[in-house]
Amino acid sequence: ELNEKRLLVTGGAGFIGANFVHYWLSRHPGGRLVVLDALTYAGNRASLDAAEDRPEFRFVQGDIRDQALVEKLLREEGIDTLVHFAAESHVDRSITGPDAFVDTNVVGTHSLLKAARAVWLPDNEAPLPQHRFHHVSTDEVYGTLGANDPAFTETTPYAPNSPYSASKAASDHLVRAYHHTYGLDTTISNCSNNYGPYQFPEKLIPLCILNLLEGKPLPIYGDGKNIRDWLHVEDHCRGIELILAGGRAGETYNIGGNSERSNLEVVEALCTLMDELRPTAAPHARQITFVKDRPGHDRRYAIDARKLEGELGYAPTRSFEAGLRETVDWYLASASWWQPILSGEYREWVGRQYGGS
Ligand code: NAD
Repeated sequence: ELNEKRLLVTGGAGFIGANFVHYWLSRHPGGRLVVLDALTYAGNRASLDAAEDRPEFRFVQGDIRDQALVEKLLREEGIDTLVHFAAESHVDRSITGPDAFVDTNVVGTHSLLKAARAVWLPDNEAPLPQHRFHHVSTDEVYGTLGANDPAFTETTPYAPNSPYSASKAASDHLVRAYHHTYGLDTTISNCSNNYGPYQFPEKLIPLCILNLLEGKPLPIYGDGKNIRDWLHVEDHCRGIELILAGGRAGETYNIGGNSERSNLEVVEALCTLMDELRPTAAPHARQITFVKDRPGHDRRYAIDARKLEGELGYAPTRSFEAGLRETVDWYLASASWWQPILSGEYREWVGRQYGGS
């Protein structure tokens, strides 16, 4: 049945969206998959190269806030499943420029909800069956944990601490409200930190891999002891697929990797891998540089994914160590993907952010 689904994937040229497109097309041929992406600095059409010649695939450059365009696509393409990845996604950018986060994450998500309601729940007609709005969100909406606190569950109260997480929290609430108020068939997933291919090199793991290659400092905030749960992006996609197949309308599901690591542990693991794969005279760990902490930096996130495991049989398939090695291999083999990014705006931003690089 998933093979017949007609998907609109917002943000499909971003990191997780592009991985989802490839994952979905490899497993569900024969349906339809339309990507809607504004191609902001974080969107990269080249991440979709492998999908371009698939007959199921279509790319539309456009903004999720363009409600008329979204309604047109939903009708014209007979879309029955909207998977919403599009967002401003980088916490550091939300600190220096929060407006874009409210515009895209809050107003943009609301615009998509209005479009889905207009097309899927027309006045005085029964809702279209088997139509689903899946909203992709983050564990950061739950705030921060102490070292011994239990992991976040789906009933943990929201306590966002950054403009990014606050804007995602607001969008989650709007999705929930459109289910309870208008009867839109919605699901939400709140996921931990993703890593894997096609991740924009402003994020910790690709930033460090590329800086390791270039012999540049590896910037670590504060004492490096902030803890995140890490999940390979393909396991995130698998979790979303399970929710699309069997998730209950109106429900939220946490997706996690059972892999809590401090930032310093992650960067040290990368250094060890690079010592093996690209040995240099001195160990790569010498490049580790502690920088001033991020304001409002959450100390620890941890995900309790037992609801998704119990209801839908979810389990991450890769260990963090195996996934990290695969990811390093991918970046080493994919210079043609990341080389064009390491110029212009990105280079200036990294310089401003961490100094000197
Ligand atoms: P990303 O920044 O790599 O990609 C975002 C994509 O959205 C880009 O292709 C961009 O061009 C597009 N976009 C931005 N604004 C748009 C607009 N107004 N209209 C249309 N397209 C627009 O982000 P990502 O890391 O792939 O994250 C995807 C989603 O998953 C986000 O909603 C994010 O909050 C969520 N999430 C991310 C993580 C993570 O670790 N990266 C973890 C949990 C949840």
